[in-house]
Amino acid sequence: MNEGVQKYVDNAKKALAAHRRYIDEEVKKWKFDTIAVHGAYSVQEAIENNQGSIIEPVYMSSSQAFRDSDEMEAALAYLIPSWTYSRIHNPSMGYLEATLALLEGYGFDGETGCCAASSGMAAIASATDPFLVKSTKKSTEPINFVSNAQIYGGTFQQFNIRKMQDRGIECRWVVEPNNIDEWASKIDSDTRFLFGELPSNPGLSFFDLKKVIDLAHEHGIPAIFDTTIATPALLRPISLGADIVVHSVTKTLTASGFCIAGAVIARKHIVTNIDNDELREDFATYIKLLPNRDVGWCLSPMQAILTLNDIRTLRSKMDILSQNSMKVAEFLEGHSKVSAVNYLGLRNHSLHNVAAKYLWLVDAEYDDQYKKPVNRYGHLMSFQLKGGISAARAFFDHLKRIWRATDLGRIKSVATIPSISTHQQMGEDLRSMASIPADLIRLCIGAEHPDDMIADLEQALEKT
Ligand SMILES: *Cc1c(COP(=O)(O)O)cnc(C)c1O
Repeated sequence: MNEGVQKYVDNAKKALAAHRRYIDEEVKKWKFDTIAVHGAYSVQEAIENNQGSIIEPVYMSSSQAFRDSDEMEAALAYLIPSWTYSRIHNPSMGYLEATLALLEGYGFDGETGCCAASSGMAAIASATDPFLVKSTKKSTEPINFVSNAQIYGGTFQQFNIRKMQDRGIECRWVVEPNNIDEWASKIDSDTRFLFGELPSNPGLSFFDLKKVIDLAHEHGIPAIFDTTIATPALLRPISLGADIVVHSVTKTLTASGFCIAGAVIARKHIVTNIDNDELREDFATYIKLLPNRDVGWCLSPMQAILTLNDIRTLRSKMDILSQNSMKVAEFLEGHSKVSAVNYLGLRNHSLHNVAAKYLWLVDAEYDDQYKKPVNRYGHLMSFQLKGGISAARAFFDHLKRIWRATDLGRIKSVATIPSISTHQQMGEDLRSMASIPADLIRLCIGAEHPDDMIADLEQALEKT
């Protein structure tokens, strides 16, 4: 390394150490809401680098210019923090990543990193594919991974078609994820990771994730969770020992509905049986700088800042959305035309107790309204009518205020019928394995007054 390059590297080391101190000594001590509002963006950074802009700027630029050849060499060798080219990194994307890493790592002693992606599906591929590489052992068995069967339809297709059919990587489905023995029975020496989605979309399945984390670690493999439906305001698996979390940032994290986005958040030093030190030491940075650079599923800077703006109020939003949903779920449960309601907050839901163990509104004990921990269950629910599929469609078609759309996580209430939309392509047999009946109606309640949503549901139910 020549002297010029070395100087850039030395200066970067000092700047990085100062930034780390700022995060550890200040930011990590803030409450969740303060981190959600400010992330890692400081007054000092605003004044020194961004003309004092109090809001994180949208850097709509493809690439970064360098002072000289030494700086360019150091940057392209990843020896100094830089953003180089927006497919790899971009300052606006960086602000979002820093905030998500901190929120997902809230309450966790160690360090977390985040790599944003262009969608939730891209995030799931980037969190899983690096483990599905050719075996370094001489085993002739196909490599495999284990996942609960109750997962988002797109994830099911990615696992079942793209990985299993196209690439011959075996996905072993766990049909009753709250039975830890079923997970254990699927693991062998060619298993690369355990994957779980909870609460699941649309069935609101849940399981004891601490047991799944411990099981993964007993076998030297990582535990990866999709907690899109809970958001870090209700559940943070890394603080419970998980290695990696993925989000469809499209959903409640961007409740405004302004974009499609995803994110992978990982602790440092993950557990893995893959022989790759960079991957093990800092998974989020590894996928960002290498595999994701080569595949190209980066996030646009505009979308990063729109999402950041939504995240600032995440905790209080999740509280309101959860309370509205509880009221709506109770109404549906008591309605004579409704045969079943899946909402984890309902006391007689079979998974209520295990969900209540894990789903807590972050920082409720510091909220003057509560002053103690409170359970919140998010805004997704699903239900069935006694009249079956024809009643479900009639009800659906008569909704006036609640939107008919294949969407969830919005500030506006949205309903769908998964068997004809999000989970259509799975086919009937696989839907039945994943517990998605044809007449299941999925409902995600927004921030409207719940009485108005109940009135809409009531008038549509009358017409079935
Ligand atoms: C929507 C969704 C995804 C996929 O995310 P996109 O942003 O639509 O690509 C993954 N997991 C869950 C739980 C989802 O709801």
